[in-house]
Amino acid sequence: MYTVGITGGIGSGKTTIANCFAALGIPVFNADEAAKHILQTSPIVIEKIKQAFGAEIYTHQNLLNKQALAAIVFNNPTKLEQLNTIVHPATIEAAKQFIDSQKAPYVIKEAALLFEAGTAEGLNFIVGVYAPNALRIQRAMHRDGSTREQVLQRMNKQLPETLKMKLCDAVITNDDQQLVIPQILPLHQLFLQSATKH
Ligand code: ATP
Repeated sequence: MYTVGITGGIGSGKTTIANCFAALGIPVFNADEAAKHILQTSPIVIEKIKQAFGAEIYTHQNLLNKQALAAIVFNNPTKLEQLNTIVHPATIEAAKQFIDSQKAPYVIKEAALLFEAGTAEGLNFIVGVYAPNALRIQRAMHRDGSTREQVLQRMNKQLPETLKMKLCDAVITNDDQQLVIPQILPLHQLFLQSATKH
């Protein structure tokens, strides 16, 4: 299956752009949502998380205390690595199953940390979604109710946007100035053509 990655920093508009491809009939796997789902539903993952971070990280109904987990891993690279070692393989497997089960001409995998998580390999084409930092901060604050400092802290954990965009095969500028649909449609045509030759 021809597989296209969509990536970009916090608040760049990955999901918004991915939704446009979805409106064109293209299946979208959202890696960040999938990872959250796995943390709530996979008995194997839940068990490993309890062993690594303590059973109290889940309630008696097996609901994850996301704030507690985030607080543990946020400034502790070893713990973050431990979390990623548990969640990434399960997410990669979920993506594989999703992609293999699709009948569409191509599939999109959306992930904030495509390069950082080492999951860019195996994708046929990577689209970066770019927005200036100030706009990304504004969007994330507005969407999540976070403070500017909280957004900046999350941004600082990601690759710098300019570097990330250089690693992509194409960039969609989502800066509230340029229209996005005229940028999306030629890429969609390109992917349809590439998929037939794949
Ligand atoms: P994150 O990685 O933080 O989940 P994201 O890159 O997936 O973010 P979105 O969730 O798509 O970004 O967008 C962030 C916020 O900005 C959302 O509230 C979204 O509605 C808004 N937004 C993004 N792009 C646009 C746009 N072109 N026009 C209007 N609002 C937009």
